[in-house]
Amino acid sequence: MTETNLQQQTRQAADLLLNSKHAVALTGAGMSTPSGIPDFRSSHSGIWSEVDRIEIASLSSFRYDPDKFYGWFHSVAQMIWSAEPNDAHTALASLEKAGLLEGIVTQNVDGLHQRPGSINVNEIHGHLREAVCVDCLQHHDSESLFESFVATGIPPNCSSCGGHLKPEVVFFGEQLPHEAIAAANALFDSTDMVIIGGSSLEVAPASELPFRALEHSARLVIINREPTYLDSRTDVVLTGDVAELVPLIVGEVHLEQ
Ligand code: ZN
Repeated sequence: MTETNLQQQTRQAADLLLNSKHAVALTGAGMSTPSGIPDFRSSHSGIWSEVDRIEIASLSSFRYDPDKFYGWFHSVAQMIWSAEPNDAHTALASLEKAGLLEGIVTQNVDGLHQRPGSINVNEIHGHLREAVCVDCLQHHDSESLFESFVATGIPPNCSSCGGHLKPEVVFFGEQLPHEAIAAANALFDSTDMVIIGGSSLEVAPASELPFRALEHSARLVIINREPTYLDSRTDVVLTGDVAELVPLIVGEVHLEQ
């Protein structure tokens, strides 16, 4: 991408944003890789190279052997707990604050969108702020529990019954969180512009949400390192690092204000 092309494309993306009334963002693992969190669902990330991801992170094997999950999850949790939001997270938060972005739908469970101030964040693969006891089904605030797990490597237990706690992230074979999915669908049913950042659109339902938007002729901007199956139906495709490219678009927007 030449400098001139890049400027034209970020300008075009900024114009689409400024002319939209209901812009939304859809983000995936690529949003957090610049923060040092690898793509856990990708077989290319190296994270799954030693273990079968279905075996480790499925609901049935968690019930059978939670320690196996927690043994794997320890290094992952360390990465998540030491990660800081990057410039793309900050840029999207500033758009929402300026009234130019209605909300974010994310596949990420790391909570990094909220830290620079994004408010309407719909986490369709769950999050780590809560955990549920697999025995008595009690919900627990889990931030401090996982913080101490990161430090000690000792899996957290239910304070009521001593049972194993499962983080409120979506495991393989598990239903997606109804509220977040309903909110995501509603955003995509009414949006007129979608910014897709760091998602290769390979995992449903994130892969299907842009279609809801295209059905009523919403405009699309995709920022990703790899091509997606929707590139040919997209107004602006920016190839590269979201932490560099999303702030360039937002920079163009602020110039107009
Ligand atoms: Zn319990």
